[in-house]
Amino acid sequence: MIDFSGSEARITESTLVIGLVLPDVMGTYGDGGNALVLRQRARLRGIDAEVLPITLADPVPATCDIYTLGGAEDYAQRLATRHLTQYPGMQEAAAKGAPVLAICAAIQVLGHWYETSEGERVDGISLFDLTTTPQATRSIGEIEGVPLIDGLTQPLSGFENHRGGSALGPDAAPLMRVVRGTGNGAGAAVDGVVQGSVLGTYMHGPALARNPELADHLLARATGRSLEPLDLPDVELLRRERLRK
Ligand code: GLN
Repeated sequence: MIDFSGSEARITESTLVIGLVLPDVMGTYGDGGNALVLRQRARLRGIDAEVLPITLADPVPATCDIYTLGGAEDYAQRLATRHLTQYPGMQEAAAKGAPVLAICAAIQVLGHWYETSEGERVDGISLFDLTTTPQATRSIGEIEGVPLIDGLTQPLSGFENHRGGSALGPDAAPLMRVVRGTGNGAGAAVDGVVQGSVLGTYMHGPALARNPELADHLLARATGRSLEPLDLPDVELLRRERLRK
């Protein structure tokens, strides 16, 4: 787990607070890096930003400006579901428009319910109008797609590894049309979900390191301002390399 010790002490009235939700149980494939990318892209624009890790030992505050959650295996996912149900601070913040980024298992936890690979149905927290059931086979590998939401123009890419497939209900829209990989599964040829200020994707990577435009989309929403572009050749190189593979 990334060490953010001391970050709470540096938070002031004007700090952009990035809630890293349950990194102790949700954060496979370096998903905690999404919070670091948000912090760095904010700081490069002169915005004071800190990552606040929220573990199973903490109630979830409703006061963060943005929340990120990573993927997890079934048991860890279940612990996270129980904690978020007990402490609904993130749901309260999302209802007021705070952006939330949910990766892989977190999509499933944020849905109405998910069925584990053992066939057990677990109630989620219903931030997303979707349900998740196991697919016939596990989806593992690179995923790539074309964004379907306003404000995103660049292709998106990541790495997926999940058994669950998520079916979207009428209140949820997909994040992207899949051109490589599986995404939400069930022959839908789409990945991810967008509902109000809450966004989910099956892309690990971490997703925001590979998709800077998506990072800025969330950051703009969290800060309530339009952000000037950043010229970061190394980040652009990484993005292009990933899309070529
Ligand atoms: N346990 C979930 C599944 O297999 C999520 C896995 C993950 O987050 N990588 O569908």
